[in-house]
Amino acid sequence: MKLISYLSENGQRVAGRGSDGGYVDIQSADSSLPSTMRELLALGPEGLNRAAVAVGKGRPMAATPRILAPVPDPQKVICVGLNYADHAKESGVQPPEEPVFFCKFPTAVCAHEDNIVLPKVSAQIDYEAELVVVIGRGGKNIPKQKVVEHVAGYCPGHDVSARDWQLNKPGKQWLLGKTFDTFAPFGPELTTADEVGDPSDLRIQLRLNGTTMQDSRTNQLIFKIDELVAYVSQVCTLVPGDVIFTGTPPGVGMARKPPVLLKPGDSVEVEIEKLGTLRNKCVGE
Ligand code: MN
Repeated sequence: MKLISYLSENGQRVAGRGSDGGYVDIQSADSSLPSTMRELLALGPEGLNRAAVAVGKGRPMAATPRILAPVPDPQKVICVGLNYADHAKESGVQPPEEPVFFCKFPTAVCAHEDNIVLPKVSAQIDYEAELVVVIGRGGKNIPKQKVVEHVAGYCPGHDVSARDWQLNKPGKQWLLGKTFDTFAPFGPELTTADEVGDPSDLRIQLRLNGTTMQDSRTNQLIFKIDELVAYVSQVCTLVPGDVIFTGTPPGVGMARKPPVLLKPGDSVEVEIEKLGTLRNKCVGE
């Protein structure tokens, strides 16, 4: 099933894509189901099954709604650095022996077709295509073999990165360099895990103004999704709607000679097999 969050007059809502391509508001089709993505994800696989039934029998909305990020307000935006061997190499560092985590604040989240705002205080803004994992049922100390029960689905994502902040500020300000407002676009849809099947061999591409800059497969991940979720859940309790950006393949702008940086007017597309295409335009602050 393909799910979106969208903006109605009464705030955010969740809808599923019907067989004819139109979106069906889930609570309107079944009033016993909740109105938002996080509440729906909290119901676990059973809630998603009921949502699928509702989408099957509901009436699609007449107009295409204004799409929000699939989880517009995640409690946590967790990110993994250096998780493709080739990207670690192009970054001039050894592949890590354990996964490297950082985070973005929820204020960085934006949706498909939202503008990425390039902040005045950075001169080196780069792109990174990433597979995003969306947590369904929450948990702490989730064993690797149980992770599959906690993943609701997947989305294309873009880890926008201010390299000068991330790498050149005193102490290397990874968090600040990665968390400017609008630096965490993901979407347009959440594709549920049952529809994706095995997420560990999906083609992932990034196009900048139509030119392919990154083109790899998720089978290149150093730490797989089950390892990442198990590892981070040793530290913090995961809750429904938390998202994990799982790292980027080679081809980022800063590793190119000469470097390629994002500028106002640029269009960036992240396409992942089975998950769709996320598109955002860059604008100046
Ligand atoms: Mn990244």
